[in-house]
Amino acid sequence: MKTILFLIAGIVFAAFAYGQKTYIWCGTLIDGISNDAKSNMTIVVEKNKITAVENGFSTAGPADKTIDLKSKTVTPGWIDMHVHIENETKKGNLADRFIQNPSDIAFESIGFAKVTLMAGFTTIRDLGGTGVNISLRNAVNKGLVAGPRIYTAGKGIGTTGGHADPTNGYRKDLMGDPGPKEGVINGAEEAYHAVRQRYKDGTDLIKITATGGVLSQAKDGANAQFTEEEVKAIVAAAKDYGFKVAAHAHGAEGIKRAVRGGVNSIEHGSFMDDEGIELMKQYGTFLVPTITAGKSVADSAKIPGYYTDIVTPKALATGPKIQATFAKAYKAGVKIAFGTDAGVYKHGLNWKEFGYMIEAGMPAMEAIKAATINAAELLGEKDKLGSIEVGKMADIVAVDGDPLKDPKVFGKVVFVMKEGVVYKQ
Ligand SMILES: [Zn+2]
Repeated sequence: MKTILFLIAGIVFAAFAYGQKTYIWCGTLIDGISNDAKSNMTIVVEKNKITAVENGFSTAGPADKTIDLKSKTVTPGWIDMHVHIENETKKGNLADRFIQNPSDIAFESIGFAKVTLMAGFTTIRDLGGTGVNISLRNAVNKGLVAGPRIYTAGKGIGTTGGHADPTNGYRKDLMGDPGPKEGVINGAEEAYHAVRQRYKDGTDLIKITATGGVLSQAKDGANAQFTEEEVKAIVAAAKDYGFKVAAHAHGAEGIKRAVRGGVNSIEHGSFMDDEGIELMKQYGTFLVPTITAGKSVADSAKIPGYYTDIVTPKALATGPKIQATFAKAYKAGVKIAFGTDAGVYKHGLNWKEFGYMIEAGMPAMEAIKAATINAAELLGEKDKLGSIEVGKMADIVAVDGDPLKDPKVFGKVVFVMKEGVVYKQ
């Protein structure tokens, strides 16, 4: 009896270990690391991982599955390093924060997650919301919601009255005095408190708002809002917990304080000066450009009543700067990771950023690397994500056409696989 049981267990184990493989035939393969595309390749997937990348179209065994993408271009799943998955822009939405419960936000965000995944983005970095983003990440990980793999900052951290102070623009009796728990700090000690609170909340990283921002109900969209000491305290506390730090920053002074303070990425970088560019190179800081957001807020600001009177002039002044700053920083040799600020515009259009990066002078292959291997490096997940190589997660997308020749092809995603599971075909 015992022998039979061992035998059955052995067979089950063998079936599990050497189970069904999926052979993906790729007409053109852009693997995220090579400088050139390869023709006629096969990717072999077992469970959630890539186990082989072979020349030619390999023949599958009788128990295996074949996916024919011979007429498509295949790339690693894309990574958007700047998303707000909880919400999406709409005209005059200021009242939402007073009428939406977390459950309302959660139900809406399910749709945003799905549309993002179907657009080819198998991983996102969520840079700030109410905390629903943490639950959404967990729901995706459990397979309850179809969405990209989420790395989230939870609630972003700002200073009193700064970008990310959640009660900015409120009536005085509603303003209160939010603190580290709500993501508002003043001084190094509170910086530690806020980071530790986020560890307790279950975030994956830390987001700070080092300067004013466009969409907050406050006058200045670019002023420095953290001291260098406060940034250093955030970064030191974050290191204790294995967190990376992303810094929203538009103005030149705030950018420099954040870079010298040791953050891992500057988000937007709109009014960056030459000294800022040099500092970023010296510190190896990534720029996450979000050109799409810049263009989109400038467009929305032209629609009467879309934003409040305090936001409109900031959107018109800041938005159009981002693409030119990106061009300058890229040419100077600053490290670039793809990010769009999705939510500030409609989720699912993240792919437009590729076209804007290419338009600004970045070769299409570099733009793809910014959204794959470079993004994985900034996430700290380079051994798991960002390329089509043996041992990596089977995050694979295919587009109809040649994205190296026509940026519109990035909007024609015909196949999405995440961790070996096909979501779109
Ligand atoms: Zn943002």
